[in-house]
Amino acid sequence: MELQAYIDGKWYPKSEAKVSIFDHGLLYGDGVFEGIRSYNSLVFKLQEHLERLYESAHTIMLEIPLTREEMAKAVIRTLQINRLSNAYVRLVVTRGVGDLGLDPKKCKRATVIIITDKIILYPDELYRNGLEIITVPTVRNLPEALNPSLKSLNYLNNIMAKIEAGIAGYQEAIMLNFQGYVAECTGDNIFAMRQGTLVTPPTYLGALKGITRGAIIELARKLKVPFEERILTRHDLFNAEEVFLTGTAAEVIPVVKIDGRKIGEGAPGKSTLKLMRAFHALTKTDGVRYKLGD
Ligand code: PMP
Repeated sequence: MELQAYIDGKWYPKSEAKVSIFDHGLLYGDGVFEGIRSYNSLVFKLQEHLERLYESAHTIMLEIPLTREEMAKAVIRTLQINRLSNAYVRLVVTRGVGDLGLDPKKCKRATVIIITDKIILYPDELYRNGLEIITVPTVRNLPEALNPSLKSLNYLNNIMAKIEAGIAGYQEAIMLNFQGYVAECTGDNIFAMRQGTLVTPPTYLGALKGITRGAIIELARKLKVPFEERILTRHDLFNAEEVFLTGTAAEVIPVVKIDGRKIGEGAPGKSTLKLMRAFHALTKTDGVRYKLGD
């Protein structure tokens, strides 16, 4: 069966799931989105994802025409219709259909889209041996211009960085903020073990408040791994004992080389492996369960 996508209250086969060319999500990247995972019929941290989505919408003064409860139901229904127990869910809310001008007031109703699909992850080998990444020249958006904590449809900043990573032959890249401090990666947050303390940059330096990032902070506290949110420079990363990235699609992935410098022993570190295991356990319990039926 062809995948069924939700658009404004109805489900359409993938090949027929279309939106207007006048939708401001397409014309201006005016909208917000979420990437969510389901594991064994459990939508991982669904409430946290919905909270971030509604907060992002509030900041851009976009009224979502569904309550959070209705949105949660629509997400689950979409997974059920597609009979997916392990999936990636893309939730998109655009400003809706308007005219060719910028004015969002011309858009009478937001467009709500839910797409589910099988997940694309890094190959297993990279989780065992670690990822090599680089720093790219494109800096992360200035928070006062377009706050990276707002998960908007404007992803060109990250796409530019992803292009630069690709040209150099890498899959992921570190983005610095306008001051030269480490912000995050193009689609993942970054953590380092530095002198026994787990460190990640505060989001006000220019990072998304990742749901996986939040889960790792929660697990570090539980496992009594010393943790701090503080400024990180490239020098700090090069000389860290361990580095890893976090994201809904990537989960927790070790980093073993940055800009040609070996990190720690050049293999996934002990704390990283411990947090990876704890994260996998959390994906089995922390979320909203659903049934697929017969
Ligand atoms: N940073 C950016 C720029 C992202 O796009 C993502 C993926 N949504 C993340 C970090 C990781 O966030 P999360 O753990 O919520 O997927």
